Amino acid sequence: MTVVDPPIPVKPKRISCPCCGGDSIYAISNPYRPFCSARCKNVDLGAWASEGFRLAASSNAEDQPLEDSPPSSASH
Ligand SMILES: [Zn+2]
Repeated sequence: MTVVDPPIPVKPKRISCPCCGGDSIYAISNPYRPFCSARCKNVDLGAWASEGFRLAASSNAEDQPLEDSPPSSASH
């Protein structure tokens, strides 16, 4: 009578999602790691992108050249 040990299944590492704090599987099978889902990943990227865009927009507004001199046509 022989007992064959079943192969030990690889337990995926579980972490907490940095976005919602829920269970997230930190494994290759989860393309959204360390987030739990595409929604959480998009939320985080969206917040980062909007903040960067806001900073870029404010600095860009200061860089506008002031051209407020109308051409004079009475120089003849
Ligand atoms: Zn999440």
